[in-house]
Amino acid sequence: MELDRVMTERPTIVRTIAAVREALRDAPRPIGLVPTMGALHEGHLALLARARADCATVVMSLFVNPTQFTGGEDLAAYPRDEARDAALARDAGVDLLFAPSSEEMYPEGFATTIVVGGLSEPLEGAWRGPQHFHGVATVVAKLLNIVGAQIAYFGQKDAQQALVIRRLVRDLDIPTTIEVCPTVRERDGLARSSRNAYLSDTERRRAVGLSSALRSAASAIAAGERDSAAAAATARRELARHEIEPEYLALVDPETLVPVAHLDAPVLIAVAARVGRARLIDNLIATPGE
Ligand code: AMP
Repeated sequence: MELDRVMTERPTIVRTIAAVREALRDAPRPIGLVPTMGALHEGHLALLARARADCATVVMSLFVNPTQFTGGEDLAAYPRDEARDAALARDAGVDLLFAPSSEEMYPEGFATTIVVGGLSEPLEGAWRGPQHFHGVATVVAKLLNIVGAQIAYFGQKDAQQALVIRRLVRDLDIPTTIEVCPTVRERDGLARSSRNAYLSDTERRRAVGLSSALRSAASAIAAGERDSAAAAATARRELARHEIEPEYLALVDPETLVPVAHLDAPVLIAVAARVGRARLIDNLIATPGE
């Protein structure tokens, strides 16, 4: 009965940086942090499960970060349901839910931006603008400083973001280990995303083209294809079959994001496309076969 009461009271929701610091001062270590923008799905839940398995204290942040939305992106329309997210976080065993306001994170006079050079520029940086990753790097640095986590968890679904964060942590000597967890997919291969909520039924059927395009290129590479352009053409055909015109479809080095022409080592295949109102991204690491 007592345990029930404790379980239903978790997680504690806090909205200020001071309250996070106070709540975590004597919390058992290691502390694990899972940063999210909410609208939780199985991808987030996998990160939380991993954090729960590894860490004595699990913190989830829930903050739709305005500074990473660029140009025409609709911040106001981003799906939000804090009550649902809090219930899912509770079921996932989250101890502390940090859900700050924009004013708490960016008070009057806020003036610092973290720029992770190079990695922020291609792919998502080229399409959304490098300010996207400047916003991500800045908010993640703040969250890591606020929580003081020993381990923080991110998804491979956002491969470029994971690289940017690894570099940020290394360059600024932030004492947090970054764990990158595999992409969680729907049964048909579509990567789970909060933005899938924007898809109509017809668009949902077309959207599977992103993952099937990545898989078709990866199969060609595993079967011996060594020419990056040929592997990309295979993926593009599969996209076209689903009436998808990608913003980019790129084969790049998994660490540096530099385009690769000849395939003789594992390669990151990354794709972004609009399907209806949703802008979707996905990626796969392909390994050349004999
Ligand atoms: P978001 O709420 O979209 O900012 O995502 C929060 C975290 O969940 C990020 O580290 C994402 O990479 C991760 N994530 C989002 N979708 C997935 C997925 N399908 N599989 C694994 N991780 C994911």
